[in-house]
Amino acid sequence: MALVHMTELLRRAEEKGIGVGAFNCGNMEMIMGIIRAAEDKDTPIILQIAEGRLGHSPIDLIGPMMVSAAKNAKVDVAVHLDHGKSDEVFRKALDFGFTSVMIDGSSLPLEENIARTKDVIALAGEYGADVEAEIGVVGGNEGDGEHKVRYTDPSEAERFAEETKVDALAVAIGNAHGFYKGVPVLSHETLCEISERVKVPLVLHGGTGISWEDFRNVIREGIRKVNIATANLNACTMGARDYLIAAEHPDYFGMNEAMVSATYDNVARHIDVFNMTHRL
Ligand code: 13P
Repeated sequence: MALVHMTELLRRAEEKGIGVGAFNCGNMEMIMGIIRAAEDKDTPIILQIAEGRLGHSPIDLIGPMMVSAAKNAKVDVAVHLDHGKSDEVFRKALDFGFTSVMIDGSSLPLEENIARTKDVIALAGEYGADVEAEIGVVGGNEGDGEHKVRYTDPSEAERFAEETKVDALAVAIGNAHGFYKGVPVLSHETLCEISERVKVPLVLHGGTGISWEDFRNVIREGIRKVNIATANLNACTMGARDYLIAAEHPDYFGMNEAMVSATYDNVARHIDVFNMTHRL
């Protein structure tokens, strides 16, 4: 199939009332596991990496690999820069062929977040690429320190979407990056109010640890892009660990297959839920 735009996948998801999985990667094995699961499930996905993770997975190496994997996949794949901050990294990702970027201006006051988002929309526009932004603050850490949750204000979200004309909007409804400290409590009321007022596709960050039931609820309530990072990194790590413990004579090739297969299983399970086909 093809390297496609995020907006195209979100449009199809809106038509079908489903969610698109946006899976973060960190190495070749994770990319292979993510793409293989998407192909076996015959489901388009978004392949992404956050700017804060590029210290471990340099964009000069992983960027071209992500774009190449998308171009060669048997399903449609969008390639996205997650939690972008700097123009230098936006340009690098877009030069490599990423089809969308996220500007995370959530720590800025509203006016500045709007202005910064507009600047990035203009920059991405030079490449014909899409832009996701964030309003309210998602908790946890996406490679750039701890953040305290600040719920999205629905009226601010409405104003933000209208003024920026952004392509997708990440909301904060009690979700957080990384492993949750307790059971996540999402404000479905806030999400429903945002959905009523905001017509652009909504994004849920902090997917790791959210129950299958809550995923299906938020998708019914208007979430169209669901981000999964920690669960993927963890699946890959545990796949390697289990292999190294069990193998009598461990080698790289066995470890490679274990990492691909553990990532595959995690992604496949999430795709079933986001496609709304998983039985609860
Ligand atoms: P998790 O690490 O909690 O899955 O969050 C993913 C995410 O939102 C990436 O931006």
